[in-house]
Order: sequence, then C-alpha cells, then structure tokens
Amino acid sequence: MHDIAQGLARFRREVFPAKAELFAGLAAAHRPATAFIGCSDARVVPELITQSEPGDLFVIRTAGNLVPAHAPGSDAVAAAVEYAVAVLGVSDLVVCGHSDCGAMTALAEQRDLSGAPLVADWLRHADASRARTAAAGAPAGSVDALVRQNVPAQLTNLTTHPSVARALAAGSLTLHGWVFDIASGTVEALDAAGRPTAFAARAA
Ligand SMILES: [Zn+2]
Repeated sequence: MHDIAQGLARFRREVFPAKAELFAGLAAAHRPATAFIGCSDARVVPELITQSEPGDLFVIRTAGNLVPAHAPGSDAVAAAVEYAVAVLGVSDLVVCGHSDCGAMTALAEQRDLSGAPLVADWLRHADASRARTAAAGAPAGSVDALVRQNVPAQLTNLTTHPSVARALAAGSLTLHGWVFDIASGTVEALDAAGRPTAFAARAA
C-alpha cells in the first residue's frame, strides 16, 4: 500500500492539475462512448492500452473477461452491461482477452481448482469457449486458442442481454472482439470465428 499512497499524492500534486479542466467538465457529465469488458488481470489496463482519458471508457473487468449469458435475476456484470448500453447509450462494446490469462490457462490446462471453488464455478461461463476451441481443432491445452475463442463466445453471451439485443437491432451498438498481447503490447481484432481481422473502419 505504500506505493499506492505515494501514487495518490503524486496524482493530486502533478497529474490532476494538468487535467483540472477535463475533470471539471466531467464532474457532472458521464458520457462514455465505449464500454470495455476486460480481464481483472493487473497487466491489462484498458485506459493505458487504448490511450483513453477519464470519461472515455466504461470499464467492466471480470476474471477471464467472462460475461454470463442473460438469466433471470440480476448480477453485477449484467447490471453494468445494461447500464452502459441502455442508460449511458454507449455506441461500441469491446470484449478484450489477453495473453497468459490465468483463467484461460486454468481451463486449457485443466488445473486443479478444488481450492478455489468459486473460481471453478465462475469459469463455467467459458464452457462454450472450450467447446468452440475443441471444434476449431486447436491442440488440447492450447491457452492461446482458448483465449481467442473465448472472445467471440463472450460476445455471443452479450447478445443474449436484452439491452444489447435491442441496441443491436436498432443499429446503435457495435460489438468488437480484441486480444491484447502483454509481451508485445499489440492488440488484435478478432472476427466471429476468433481469427485475426482488420480493425473496423469507423464512420466519420
Ligand atoms: Zn485474464
């Protein structure tokens, strides 16, 4: 915590004054254009890799960047998705996987999770990702293949959320699948099959 306390002091002293005008404008206006669903992994920092300013990204982070498919009753992830899409009206929604993901490694390598039963239960939301990986003919135990198949699988889960389905039908929301490589700092866009694709051109 020592480093964090120093960081807070440095933010107040050096960083905030340079952005005081930005924060003044944001003080009563929350209008992010993009929702970013990433892994809780400490090495994947959405604002850093997209070079976004405060106010730009609505961030949801979960273990393995998993988004449970819609189900009756509320949960934190579903509520955050609904708020971003239905209330804030984001125009873009990104699911970003990453290299060396602990969640995907545990699944791909069938690690013993008996000491972390809640994690094991949560990772069931990647069952379809595993099925897609096997169907794609990836070698057993391939973490990279699972990371890539998990992104479109979670995008598919997102489409089951009523707010997302509504916005997609209205043409007001675009879904994106990305993978961030920690070692090289590169971000790849993926198509619906989990293959690399060109970043979609943005309409002016
Ligand atoms: Zn991860």
